[in-house]
This record gives sequence, structure tokens and C-alpha cells, in this order.
Amino acid sequence: KSKATEVKPEEIGVTYKDVGGADEAIEELKEIIQFLKQPESFARLGGRIPKGVLLIGPPGTGKTLLAKATAGEAQVPFFETSGSEFVEMFVGVGAARVRDLFEQARKAAPSIIFIDEIDAIGQSRGGAARFGGNDEREQTLNQLLSEIDGFRSEEGKPVIIMAATNRPEILDPALLRAGRFDRQVTVSAPDLTGRLQILRIHSEDIQLAPEFDLERAARITPGFTGADLANVMNEAALLAARRNADGVTMADFEASIERVVAGLEKKSRVMN
Ligand code: ATP
Repeated sequence: KSKATEVKPEEIGVTYKDVGGADEAIEELKEIIQFLKQPESFARLGGRIPKGVLLIGPPGTGKTLLAKATAGEAQVPFFETSGSEFVEMFVGVGAARVRDLFEQARKAAPSIIFIDEIDAIGQSRGGAARFGGNDEREQTLNQLLSEIDGFRSEEGKPVIIMAATNRPEILDPALLRAGRFDRQVTVSAPDLTGRLQILRIHSEDIQLAPEFDLERAARITPGFTGADLANVMNEAALLAARRNADGVTMADFEASIERVVAGLEKKSRVMN
């Protein structure tokens, strides 16, 4: 059984307005909405509808959020899973899960499949096997390739496969071939304007003190991803609540930056 969870269109609850600092990526993804909604208008002249989109970028930049928001915009079911869920000890289990996932998505078409950390399955076949046996991983990858290729959705209703990675260089080139993940969208850490957009989004439901300066908040957080910023804003709200304040101040925000940075440093120390 596939471990993917199906999110029904009415439960998705995010659209592109919930994603900040990713205007270029959104521009490229908009086409997918049209493919999902009006496949006939594209197929009319014999064109082939793309199947796979690879989102490339560092952790926390909103790749999952972008994929989900695309499903939210198109109002189609969203099947979310991670490459690591297909990596199993026993030969055949991963492949069976892939088959099951595509069957589910096809029944619900038009729909979107999202595979986070695709590199867990899609690592170059020559590369070292990190989990399980090589046979198992190879079978899983082969199954994925054949599902993507063989794919005929019922009555021409498309299933778009979106996948995310922060290590595109280790992917098996077979995945990137024409007709597979042949569209690649880069998602980067946000610039100043992007950070401001993201901070606006994540402070919508937060009571900010009147003198809170969102632009300054964006200026003092260079290098922060969307996930970091969401985290800082949330910490700041908790700090302000603890003080029994009526609103979040810049001092709360600055103190939270330090906490989040300390947390990030700890995390990277553990990883190294
Ligand atoms: P990973 O590669 O680790 O899965 P990701 O790139 O998929 O990370 P998300 O899981 O989408 O990142 O981001 C985590 C959370 O951070 C989101 O649910 C959202 O709250 C916030 N976030 C990240 N990027 C953005 C963004 N560009 N705009 C608004 N919020 C964002």
C-alpha cells in the first residue's frame, strides 16, 4: 500500500497568495494549472502535455508549499509523499508502493502527485546504495520511470508529477529525460522583497505592535528561508504572549532571530 495521503481539493487550503518571494517559480508553474484544467486546449494541436516538474532548491524554501498551492489553484486532489517512503529493505515493496500511488492518482485525475526528496529513490543507479539493497532501489526507480512513461490517464485527464530535491546533481539522468521530469523550476532563498512578502504572509494572523517595522524585519534576516521566517515570526508571537504584551514588538522579533539562529547552528553541528 502506498503511504501517500490524498488531500481533497476543498481541504488543500493554500494558493499562490500564501507563497512569498517565489514569483518566478509561480510564473513557471502557472502553466501546469492550465494543463490540469483544460488539457484538451493543449492537446488540440497534437502537443504532448508535460508529465513531471522538478522543483530544485534548498530546504525550507517552500517547494512543498508551491506544489500544494498549485493543486490549490487548480482545485485538484493532491497526493503527497516522500522518496524515503519508497526506500525499503525488501525487494519489491518500494515498486509496489509506486504502482499503488499512481493508481490512486489516476483514479482521481486530474490530480497532482508530489514526491519530496525524490533523490531517495532517484539517485543515480551507479551511486552508492544508502538504504537497503541496490536491487530494491533499482526496482523502485524502474517502476517510477515506467509509471511516468506508461501513463495514459482515463479520458485524457492528466496527472502531473511534481518532485522536489536539493541535490539535483545526484539524480539518475534517466529521470530528467524528455517526457519525464523535463521541466525544472528553481526555488531559491528569498531576497529582501521576497522576505518582506513572506513576513507579511506569516504575520497576517499575528497581532503586531503598531511600531513593528516589517521592512526592517526583512532587512535584518538575510539568508533566511521561508521556513526560517515563519519560525521566527511564530517564536516572536510566543515571546510576546509570555510577556503578556498586546502586540509583537521588534525586540521580540530580534530575540527570536537569535533563538532560531542558535537552533539552526545546533542542527548543522549535529549534521556535520
Ligand atoms: P523541504 O525541502 O525541507 O521539504 P520545502 O522547500 O518543501 O522544504 P516547505 O516544507 O514548503 O519547504 O516549507 C515549510 C514551511 O515554511 C511552509 O509550510 C511555510 O509555512 C513556510 N514557508 C517556506 N517557504 C515559504 C514561502 N516562500 N512563502 C511562505 N511561506 C513559506
